[in-house]
Amino acid sequence: MSEVFNITVLPGDGIGPEVIAEAVKVLRVIESKLGITLNLNEHPVGGAAYEAAGHPLPEETLAAAREADAVLLGAVGGPKWETIDFSLRPERALLGLRSSLGLFANLRPAKIFKALTGASTLKPEVVEGLDIMVVRELTGGIYFGQPRGIDKTESGERRGINTLVYTESEVRRIAQIAFDVARKRNKKVCSVDKANVLECTGMWRDVVIEFAQDHADIELSHMYVDNAAMQLVRNPKQFDVIVTTNMFGDILSDEASMLTGSIGMLPSASLGEKHAMYEPIHGSAPDIAGQDKANPLATIMSAGMMFKYSLNREDVYNTLEAVVESVLDAGYRTPDIMSEGMQPVGCREMGDLIAQGVEEKLA
Ligand code: NAD
Repeated sequence: MSEVFNITVLPGDGIGPEVIAEAVKVLRVIESKLGITLNLNEHPVGGAAYEAAGHPLPEETLAAAREADAVLLGAVGGPKWETIDFSLRPERALLGLRSSLGLFANLRPAKIFKALTGASTLKPEVVEGLDIMVVRELTGGIYFGQPRGIDKTESGERRGINTLVYTESEVRRIAQIAFDVARKRNKKVCSVDKANVLECTGMWRDVVIEFAQDHADIELSHMYVDNAAMQLVRNPKQFDVIVTTNMFGDILSDEASMLTGSIGMLPSASLGEKHAMYEPIHGSAPDIAGQDKANPLATIMSAGMMFKYSLNREDVYNTLEAVVESVLDAGYRTPDIMSEGMQPVGCREMGDLIAQGVEEKLA
């Protein structure tokens, strides 16, 4: 009997359904080539779910996400829902999924394809061959710490409060993920903190050092976040895996992703103890939705990450990456990565090219 995987597919809004359609096209080819069964169950999320069921994350969608082997998400949001109550905004679905599924680790690779070296805002020699992974803690730290809010001082002045808090076990489990990821790469982890100023991240550093004592195969280094932000644009190739807190990771992963040139190229994985979700890092791009202009590669590579981290088929991820590389080498470009002399294609044609490449390359 063939292996069966249940994948909950959440297309969402804007270009979400367009890029997901291309990922599904590629998944169907992989399915037939590998002789596995992929049950791709689509559910509404975000604005589409608000329209259909009055809530951006309906119970049925959440239940389907909980039961799946993995979740593949497009993007949510759009101008249509910007004025509705905050609790019902499409973006709330993302927070709901992350917290309900316990997705505490966000993995964002920033890898530059050779053919796109010129698309970066940095000099080609600084980014050529760049391949780093930012591992961001996703469910703790200052974004969730209590107390939080705005109150008043005795003199009646407004006072805003957020709390940076981590427990040892939260630090250990994200360190574990970072070390596991590094073991499959260049075996280097840089832990980013602000241990010189913030006690909480001083403890973070201590816990990571303790953890590393039992994992001597990985080279561990530490960097203050201000220096890391600077080093990422000065000499990004010094990094292999960066592990850091929720807020520092939020900022550094965006910085790292832009080293590669286009937001339409970058996948991500969010992992928990039991669940995992895969999504492109971009949003719903309402400005180009419905025009066959979106770059589907971030979503297709997110589906690739699903094979690597949830379905135990790293070979599929590697094949997909090689196919993307060869399609780019052949000169095909969606508008966001277009440059002179290249062959313009739309979202659907890019999906067709990848599907065809997978058909040819996957054994
Ligand atoms: P965005 O990522 O949607 O778009 C930023 C710019 O990048 C736009 O010019 C867009 O056309 C372009 N772009 C994005 N993805 C692209 C792709 N695959 N191919 C080609 N070009 C692409 O960010 P935004 O404009 O700030 O937000 C639009 C909506 O998306 C908002 O409602 C926002 O809240 C939401 N959003 C959702 C997510 C998510 O679902 N994970 C993430 C970020 C923003």
